[in-house]
Amino acid sequence: MSLKKLLKMLGLGAVAVILGLEGLDWLRSLWPRQVSRQLLKEVLFFPSPPSCVEHLYNPVRTHPCPCPLPHGLDTSFSRLLEHLLSARVSLDLCMFCFSNIQLSRAVLLLHSRGVRVRVLTDREYMAITGSQIAVLLKAGICVRHELAITMHMHHKFAVLDSRKLITGSLNWTMTAVQSNQENVIVIEEPELVQSYEEEFNKLWEASDPAKHPPHPHSVINAKGLLAPSRDV
Ligand SMILES: [Zn+2]
Repeated sequence: MSLKKLLKMLGLGAVAVILGLEGLDWLRSLWPRQVSRQLLKEVLFFPSPPSCVEHLYNPVRTHPCPCPLPHGLDTSFSRLLEHLLSARVSLDLCMFCFSNIQLSRAVLLLHSRGVRVRVLTDREYMAITGSQIAVLLKAGICVRHELAITMHMHHKFAVLDSRKLITGSLNWTMTAVQSNQENVIVIEEPELVQSYEEEFNKLWEASDPAKHPPHPHSVINAKGLLAPSRDV
C-alpha cells in the first residue's frame, strides 16, 4: 500500500470516528434527562420489629454495638429513619403526636448538622407526658402549633429538602411504630411534594405567634419555650 493510500484511509477513519461521536451526542440530547433517574416510591408498613438503629446515627462507628437488640435488620422503622436522616438542607415536619425518642434524636442530629428544621405540631399533644417537643424547643428548633382552639393539627407528614415526602397514618410515637398497624409512603413525585410544601408553608404562617399576639391558648411563649398552660 502506497503512503498516499494509507494517509487517505487514516483520514477517512478519523472522519468516521468524529461523525460517530457527534451522532452519539445528538442521540443523547434527544434522550429525556428525567429518564436517567427513577423517582423514589416506597411504602412502609408498621408495626416494625425492634432492632438496633445505632449505625444510622453514626455510620463510621468502628466497634460493635453492645445493646441487646437484634442487629443488621432492615425494618420499616430503620428505612423511615434512613430517609429522615437523608435531609441535607431542610426538614418541614407536621406531626400530631411526637414522643418517639429515636426519631427525636434524628431531628436533633439534623439540626446540629445545620439542616433548617421547622416543626408544626398539635397544641394539646405537644404537652403530654413523653412528648419530645420540649426537647426540640430546648435545642433551639423552631416549633409552632395551631392557634385555633377548635382544631387539631392532625397531619403526619414531613418534607425533606423540598424533594422528598414522608406521609401516612404514623404518629411519631413508640406505640405507633411497634404496636400499631400503620402505613407510610415515601415519595419524590415533584407535584405531590410541592402541594405538601405549600400546605406546610400556609399552616406555618397561620401559626405564627408574632402575627397573632398575645394568644391566650398558646403553649409556646414569646421566647419559643414551652409555657405552662391550664388548657392542656
Ligand atoms: Zn445495638
